[in-house]
Amino acid sequence: MQKVYLDNAATTHMHEEVIQEMVNAMRFNFGNPSSSHFFGRESKGYIEKARKTIAQYTGVTSAEIIFTSGGTEANNLILRSSVEYLGVERIITTRIEHSCVAETVNSLNKNQNIQVDYVNLNDKGEIDLEDLQQLLKASDKKTIVSIMHANNEIGNLNPIEKIGDLAHAHNAYYHSDMVQTLGHYAINLENLPVDFASSSAHKFHGPKGTGFAYIKKSTGLKAQITGGGQERNMRSGTENVHGILGLGKAFEMANENLEKDMDYIFALKEYAIQELQSAFPDIHFNGMCATENSLYTLLSLSLPFKDGLIGFELDLRGIACSQGSACQSGAAKSSRVLNEILSKDMIASTTPLRISFSTHNKKEDIDYLLSVLKEISARHSATA
Ligand code: PLP
Repeated sequence: MQKVYLDNAATTHMHEEVIQEMVNAMRFNFGNPSSSHFFGRESKGYIEKARKTIAQYTGVTSAEIIFTSGGTEANNLILRSSVEYLGVERIITTRIEHSCVAETVNSLNKNQNIQVDYVNLNDKGEIDLEDLQQLLKASDKKTIVSIMHANNEIGNLNPIEKIGDLAHAHNAYYHSDMVQTLGHYAINLENLPVDFASSSAHKFHGPKGTGFAYIKKSTGLKAQITGGGQERNMRSGTENVHGILGLGKAFEMANENLEKDMDYIFALKEYAIQELQSAFPDIHFNGMCATENSLYTLLSLSLPFKDGLIGFELDLRGIACSQGSACQSGAAKSSRVLNEILSKDMIASTTPLRISFSTHNKKEDIDYLLSVLKEISARHSATA
């Protein structure tokens, strides 16, 4: 059976070079980076090299890059630690953040009495900056704004410079979940009004279970995981040496090939938009995903018919895509993000689908998806 992978916002294939880097690390760099003998020092040296690579591409110092088990841990570290150590009493966020931010904010609200304010969004999921300003003005409580760079379900790219400038003008911190953008765009963190950010290797052809938090030096954030004081005392636990080396290699490759990969993937996305529009003139593209204010890697569709089993049907035909984020799609629950921005009528009469691309995709993948979607749609017309 033909197999087509169009779920790259959930995770990506690992690059062969990354796998090779990790295999070498597993084979030869088994020393505990905390050991003072040669084997330990060598592992430690490679970790610091990976950190330096990431710091150089993002324009920050090595001390500001903390390796974690991925985006979820980085976001937890930043939000929970800002409450515990920076005196944060209020979080301003949106209702369409990734669940690792949304659930952490809920937990801080419930268990630590942290005030949570949600910024208004329009029906495209765009942030109301005027409302953000009003919220920032409305309280003297120490505040952190947590608004993602790009939405993993609808692809919206948020105006992080404006958000960060507003936050700082009101003496608030700014945290941005950059899991869908670091490794996909040239991002100089030093030049952005961002205090904290998160990244995840498996979104840019690196290994799962590795990522990093960017923590601006001057903020004074402290560890959530305590123990032997690894990661400059910011995250204890023996380092995942091969994972970190894989992350470093993947980040280097992503940044070296950025423009070429972007052009290739963007052309695929344009092709998909054009073909989908011609096959389904009433199709709705959710959020800003069919505009330039969107990830070039992702398309979020509402197909103009209702089919609760479409994910299952596509899977049977060898097509992997998603109906929400990967974390929500295990059980085919309706998307929290789409429920937030789309009308009840739209939700009731359409079928959501998220397709997301990488350099491993070809136009033929889109042609195959289209052919299967047309068959499904034809069946619906015949029974209507
Ligand atoms: N934030 C966003 C926007 C994501 O898309 C994801 C992954 O789906 C995460 C956070 C979680 O990252 P990880 O899988 O590394 O925990």
